[in-house]
Formats: sequence, C-alpha cells, structure tokens
Amino acid sequence: MVKRQPSWLKDGLIFVGHWEPMIYRRRAGQAGTDAWEHYLREHSEEAVAELADLGVNLVITHYHKGFGPAAEQDEYALIRQLRDHCHSRGIKIGTYIRLDTLAYETLLLEHPEARDWFQVNWDGQYPVYNDSDQWLYYRRQACPCCEEYLRWVEERIRFVIEDLKADLIHFDGVMPYLEGYQCNCDRCKADFRRYLQTKYADPALAKERFGFSDLSEVLPPVYIVHPYHPHSPKDLRELRDPVLQEWTRYRCEKLAEVHRRLSRHIRRLNPEVAVEVNTLMPITHNHYFRDGLDLALIAPENDCMWTEDSHHPELTAEGVLISRIREFKIGRTLKNIIFSYHPGENPADLKRCLGQALAFNAQTIGMVGGMPVSEDRWGSAPGGPGLPDSNWPTPYAIKRQWVHFRKEYAEHYLGTETMGGVALLRARDSLSYSMTKPHHHTLLWEQVLIQSGVPFDIIFDQQLDDLSKYQVLVLPSTECMSEGMLAVVRAFVEAGGGLVASGDTSARDEWKRRRPDLGLRDVLGPNAGRGSDPWHATRQQYGQGRAAYVSELLTEDDISQWHGLSSSAWKLPKNTNALRQAVLWAAGDRLAVTVEGPETVVAEFLTQPGKYLVHLVNFDLSRARHDLDIKLRLPRGGRVRSAVALDPDAKRPERLRVEREGPVMTIRVPTLEIYKLIVIATSGAGSAE
Ligand SMILES: [Zn+2]
Repeated sequence: MVKRQPSWLKDGLIFVGHWEPMIYRRRAGQAGTDAWEHYLREHSEEAVAELADLGVNLVITHYHKGFGPAAEQDEYALIRQLRDHCHSRGIKIGTYIRLDTLAYETLLLEHPEARDWFQVNWDGQYPVYNDSDQWLYYRRQACPCCEEYLRWVEERIRFVIEDLKADLIHFDGVMPYLEGYQCNCDRCKADFRRYLQTKYADPALAKERFGFSDLSEVLPPVYIVHPYHPHSPKDLRELRDPVLQEWTRYRCEKLAEVHRRLSRHIRRLNPEVAVEVNTLMPITHNHYFRDGLDLALIAPENDCMWTEDSHHPELTAEGVLISRIREFKIGRTLKNIIFSYHPGENPADLKRCLGQALAFNAQTIGMVGGMPVSEDRWGSAPGGPGLPDSNWPTPYAIKRQWVHFRKEYAEHYLGTETMGGVALLRARDSLSYSMTKPHHHTLLWEQVLIQSGVPFDIIFDQQLDDLSKYQVLVLPSTECMSEGMLAVVRAFVEAGGGLVASGDTSARDEWKRRRPDLGLRDVLGPNAGRGSDPWHATRQQYGQGRAAYVSELLTEDDISQWHGLSSSAWKLPKNTNALRQAVLWAAGDRLAVTVEGPETVVAEFLTQPGKYLVHLVNFDLSRARHDLDIKLRLPRGGRVRSAVALDPDAKRPERLRVEREGPVMTIRVPTLEIYKLIVIATSGAGSAE
C-alpha cells in the first residue's frame, strides 16, 4: 500500500516545540514571576529568526489543552503571531491537541453537557491523568466511545486547520486505555459486546472460543486485590482468559478506530496537514494489554509518532548499548517519522545522540530544542572535560553545525530504503497475551542484532506478506502462531529463506492454546524444543532453506517473571555468540553487507538508486575506533565506483580505499570518532536497486 503523506514531509523534519498554553502553566503551578515575559519571547520574531538560523523547518506550539475554547482563546492571537513569523520564513507550524484529558473546572462552565463525556472506571471513580510526580485530579479522562466528545474534538480540529492554519496536528495523550484504569461506562460496555458479537457471529466459533455462544451478558474484566491471590492487572503474567484477550484486542482496535476517524477528518479538511501522535512507544513491555496500543495498527493513517522513552544513547559498564534504535527501526518499517528529544550532557554526548538519529531515523533529526532555542544549556558537567568554559561550544552551535551538515548532504538522507538482511518479528498475539518470555526474547534478540554489525529490520505481522528482501527471519519465542503464520514461515524457508527461532516459537495457536507439538516441528527438525542445548543452535535443512533453533537466551539474573525488560535490564545474553552464529549460518553467505568492528559500533545499511549508504555510530565516547571494514557482496558484474566518508565534524569528505576479493568488496574506514556516513556508489549488475 502506498502511504499518502503531505508533500512537505519528504524533506525531513527538524523541529522545536513548546506545548503548554499559559493557562496550563499557571493551573499546574509551573509559572514563575517572569512567565508571561518568557511566553511573549517564545512567540517573538527574534525567537523565530534563531530557528531559521538553526535550520529548523517546523515549530509545534500550544493550542488545545482541554480547558475549552472560551478559556483558551485569549492565547490564539499569540498562535497567529507565531504562525505568521514562521510562515514568512518557510517554517511550518504544528499545534497541540490533548486528546484524552479534559480540565473540567473551566470546560463545564462553557459546556455543561461535557459532564457526560468523562470516563467512569469499573469501581465508579473518574479516572484522571496521573503524571509521575503530580496528582492531576483536575484533568479527567474522556470516554472514547462518546460520540458528542468526538464531534467536539472534530470541531477543535476544524478550527485549528481552517482558522489558525496549522500544518501539523500533534495529538498528545493517546492513552485512554490504561488497563485497570479506564472507561467502563455503559457506552463502552455495549461497544465491547457489539465487538464480540460481530467477531463471533458464528455460534460454533463463539462456542469454541468461550465455551458458549450467546455473548450478550459478557462484561469487560474486573480486577480485585484478593487476600491470597493477586488479580490486579499489574500482577498478571499471561492472558489465558479469552474475554481478557479479546478485551485487549478490542481496546487496541478502538484506539486505532478513533485515531483513524480523526486522521481522515484532518485529511478531508486539508490533505497537506500532517498527523502526528504521541504514543510514547512503550515497546519494552506488553503495551497491547497495558496501554491498549498497537503501533502497527495506528501507523498506516499517521505520519509522525513521538517516543518519550528514556533510551538516550549510552554505553553501560557491561558493554551494553542503550539506544533508540528499536524505536527508529520500528518507525522506518511503519513509515512513520519518529519524534524524540536530543539532550546532551556535553558536546560528545549530544553528537552521539544526533548521530544516532541521522543514522536510524528516516529523513529527520527530530526535536532540536525548546523555545527560544538558544536558551538551551548543558545539563551538567560545567566547564566540560579539560576545557575552560569559553572553549566549549553551546548546544545551539553544535546543533546548528549538524543540522546544516544534514541539509548540505540532504541527497544522501532522503528517499532511502533499508537493505533488508535479517527481519526480526514483533509478533502481535505472542506479545499481546504474555508479559514475560516473548518480550524478553524480542528485546534481547534486538540487542544482539543491534550490536552485531548486520543489516536488520524490525517487522510486524503485517510485513509477513512480503519477506522478499530478507535472507533471515528471527522468531523470538513467537509462541502464538496461527495456521496462516505457520504456512508463511514454512513457505519462506522452503523457498530458500533462513529461519532462526527461539524459546516457545510455534508452541501455541493465535488464542494461546497449547499445541501437542511445535507447529513448526517439520521445519525446525526433531531436535528443536525445550531441553535442547542453548549454547549450540540446532540446525536443519528444510526445502531450499535452513532453520536454526535456540532453546533459551541465557541471562545472569532469573528474569522469567519480569514484566518486559526496561532499558536498565537490557543485556547481551551469555549465549550471544550462539545466536550470532545461528543467524550467519541461516543466512548462508547471502547477507549483502556487514560491518566488522567492535560491539560498541552500530551500523545502519540503506540504499538509494546506484548507492549503498552505511551509517556508523560509535557509542564508546572514551575512544575513537580504527580500521572498521565494511564487507559488501555484489552480484556478478557489479563494481564499486567510489566510497566516500562524510562526517559533520570533518572539513571535507574523505575518499576511502576499496579492495576486492572474489565477490566481496572491503571498504576500510580508517577512523570513526562518533558518526560517519559512508556513501558507496556502484555500477553494473551489482548496482544498488
Ligand atoms: Zn466510556
């Protein structure tokens, strides 16, 4: 499916943002005595002139925080002023719309009928927005099944597009479905029943699923804390209850339905207005159940997605890379531009963060500061390592240098494709119905692949339809597989693909029902399964392809009961080498490109017509790396015309030596400080597609 996007997004996005209107800064107790003067400065021509100098092409500003238009409209004049300053300099303007919370103290004064729009929890309470350090009792959650509320949001959208002339809508707060803390009003209960009755209209199917076929008295699950047994959503380790499974699926589909409705409304009003949503991208735990969020379902009608993860690039003492590479790779697969922050404790830290985005986030750097942008300061480390204050560049100076580098070499950054190689499946049903093993295997496999110098993509169920660009498919304890999924994987291997499976892959069906034997037994061979040696993958030829299996991913700690894995628990498994060997064996010398270097250097492999693009980022800020070899395997007749390294900190491009040995070209990168882009021009039959 070709994705329809506003034409201006193709140039990539470099943006700043300030989200909160003055009414909220005051109500939340955030406003200092000089808040109003600062607010005016944020909307001034001087602030916008700085943005133009920095190279910013989008500003996201405040608009609708849920207080109601009468309470918020005083601030619209400032939005118009900022918009005019921006548009006169070719900068687009995005506006904030809070989707899930309503500030009733003012809203009810102008819209008394809004009393009926709030969520009601299963215990009769009004769910409210709860920040990590604040109890925001005055911000109630809105019911996503309330038609009047959704029409009112559509009106807010119409006004900001037609009157305020926004170029992008930033939806914040897309989490009306936190499990155990969400709407159980009569509308929502009826809607859930309708969902079940439509999906299981066939009585025989309903009976097989639930044990009975009349679903008209089914209710959403209710949680309790029992004196002896926990039945709280935060204590669940797996979802076996079919209604709880369907409730999880329903919430994901409902959120996507609301998003789709609003997105289509926006595009009908003006197809050049971009749609952006802050999903937070909570990919380290079961977000299907906890957040009612299926990223792959939201993405098709969405252009940009925020992540507010804490995965700022870092090299831990154990040699593990903390990175945002997962989020960026997911964005690339889902054709969504990822928005993230770029802080920095010092120049090298900031450059590593910017380099990571240049390498992995398609077309964009992301958010390069608040407003006014020149007021950014280093977070800590006053003076910096061994330098007097006066010798330190400001964050502004570094960002400006890197943004201008990206603009100067835009031709190498826009319109790129990944090279395929290895596909790791984030499987919906396995991740939806468990909090533990499928998540651990997914996150640890991703960690191994990130630190292995091989090309890889993170894919979702939707991408299983076309695996033609991949040599290897990794199934990370993908326990819940339908017959259809089994057939897809079987056909892929039979036709010559490589498969590496781990853990409980194919042990259950899409309802998480246990199978008497592995569904992929024929492909994986007789030795696969629990109890096989985790230090040595089993290997089996199947059709034209190869299938490997690893029973466990070994970790120092017993993580079997942990909910997902937050970044502080990311590790390279003890049997990382067995996993890598399994991938390389399954690939059978068919990976087009690899990088031979230390585990602290990451690489992204992209193509454009006639070009290979290899981005390198060194996560180890304590030392530069030397003599990194890019191994490129060209089909017969292909040749490399030139290889050049670009570095934002270098004065000029650096020509690299290319050596040929049979079908393999070796391109040596003599030195990597923090980030380099290697541009490899090819010709002949082996030319990049
Ligand atoms: Zn409701």
